[in-house]
Amino acid sequence: MLENVKVGSINYDVQKVENMNEDFSLLGQIHYHKGIIQLDETMSEDRKNQVLTHEVLHGVFYEAGFDEQEEDMIRRVGAVLHQVLKENDFYSAFNSEADAYAREMQKKAEKKQ
Ligand SMILES: [Zn+2]
Repeated sequence: MLENVKVGSINYDVQKVENMNEDFSLLGQIHYHKGIIQLDETMSEDRKNQVLTHEVLHGVFYEAGFDEQEEDMIRRVGAVLHQVLKENDFYSAFNSEADAYAREMQKKAEKKQ
C-alpha cells in the first residue's frame, strides 16, 4: 500500500487506523486541510487499496475545486477506477514513454553541440 499520495500539489500521508470502522463506521477518510488519508487497518490489502482509490478520488475532485461532492458518484467511479489502476500497467507505459522522450531530447541536445 502507498504511504504517500500526491494529489494536485498536496502530499497526503496514508495512515492505517485501529478500530476506525468499529468506532466510526468508516473504512476510510480524507482530511484535505491536514493532508491525511486514514484507512481502517483491519481491511485486506485489496480492500485498503480500493478505499484508498476512493479517498484519492475525493482528493482529485477537491483539488480540482469541487468542494461539494456526491458520495454515490465517488463510490461508483472509485470502484471502477480501482479496477482500472489495478489491472493495467500504467506505471511501465508512462515510464517507458518518459524514457523514450528523454532519449530523444538527449539526441537533439547532442546534435546541437
Ligand atoms: Zn467517500
